[in-house]
Amino acid sequence: MLNVLQLNADYTPLRVIRWERAVELVLDGKVVQVAQYPGRFVRSATLVLPWPSVVALRRYSVVRGKVRFSSRSVQARDNFACGYCGARPVLPDGRPDRVQLTMDHVVPRAQAKEGKVYLPWSRKWVSVTCWENAATACRACNSRKADRTPTQAGMHLRIFPRVPTQSDALRMTLSRLQSLPESWLEWLPTSAVRADEAGALPDEATFQKA
Ligand SMILES: [Zn+2]
Repeated sequence: MLNVLQLNADYTPLRVIRWERAVELVLDGKVVQVAQYPGRFVRSATLVLPWPSVVALRRYSVVRGKVRFSSRSVQARDNFACGYCGARPVLPDGRPDRVQLTMDHVVPRAQAKEGKVYLPWSRKWVSVTCWENAATACRACNSRKADRTPTQAGMHLRIFPRVPTQSDALRMTLSRLQSLPESWLEWLPTSAVRADEAGALPDEATFQKA
């Protein structure tokens, strides 16, 4: 729980960075501290700094972050819910039960021509395994759909399979964290926030520039 929420110069949330990186950016004057972890400090050879929890860039940055494609990332994009029936299986501790979820090729591999499939909804050819042809499906829906398109199977896909947007990417990052610090909440869209409590944090750390 040593992470820092980085905001753009317009105070829209950008990404989560490690605290060492945040301190570096503070010392280089690239960001301003927006919020701190109360009562906690980072010490370097020359100064004592309130431990940042939220920082904002001084200059606006146009971000084109890319999320690496994986079945886990597809699940995170889809909020760990089945794209067909909406089921969101969870473990007893509330985390998503990923074993119950599969990655569905919306237009199935069996209908691919030379590794490509035609997506009628976006009127283009794409690789069979890509963001735009991948959806999270529970095991029951995946086996019911089998080697058919949703239309052929008479099933309705509730999500629009897409390359993750910047806000998807942030939400996906946040979904990996055990808990979100209190001070982040006012900067995050509610869609990105899960109900969580703050985690334990050490009182102090020593910073050395790499
Ligand atoms: Zn389902």
